[in-house]
Amino acid sequence: MNRKVPNNHRNSKDCQPAREYSGAQELVNNIPYIAMTVLGAAIFVVGFVDPARGWIAASAYVTYSVMGAIWIMTFVCPHCQRWNTGSCPCGYGRFAARLGKKKDSDHFKEKFKKHIPVIVPLWFVPILFGAGLVVRSFSWPLLVLLVVFALEAFIVLPLFSKKRGCAECPQRDSCPWMGRKRQ
Ligand code: SF4
Repeated sequence: MNRKVPNNHRNSKDCQPAREYSGAQELVNNIPYIAMTVLGAAIFVVGFVDPARGWIAASAYVTYSVMGAIWIMTFVCPHCQRWNTGSCPCGYGRFAARLGKKKDSDHFKEKFKKHIPVIVPLWFVPILFGAGLVVRSFSWPLLVLLVVFALEAFIVLPLFSKKRGCAECPQRDSCPWMGRKRQ
């Protein structure tokens, strides 16, 4: 069930109370990122001829994905109006409160632009690795995995984020991602 947060946390543009997310909804909203991580890791497992190297690379990718999420919680979320509230769609805001203190929301845009590039390789490393292998030694399972990963990472995940969270975010006007979409 969707709840509403108190009046002290409203969307900036229309002054409507921001939606509050349950634990189950936060989990659902994390599924696209988790799915991308699992699919990316699978590309390394399927792509390497040596299973040990494949699993090591997959583990490194999963670790990078988890560390990337923690990085965002540490350096971006403290500047967000959703920090330590139930109105963060993925729950990062509450975890962020355990990692550090609230910081100036006026710097959200600047921090977003600075730190988002840290996790961007998650979208491209599996594609570049897998595409190189498909060109060198064609494999149907790897090609199918690459296509599914690309659909998930570049279509499903951004669409899901935009529809489920960003549309209601109180900082969407200062968010470089949403600002770029409106241009
Ligand atoms: S809405 Fe985004 S930036 Fe804000 S706390 Fe949640 S994950 Fe962090």
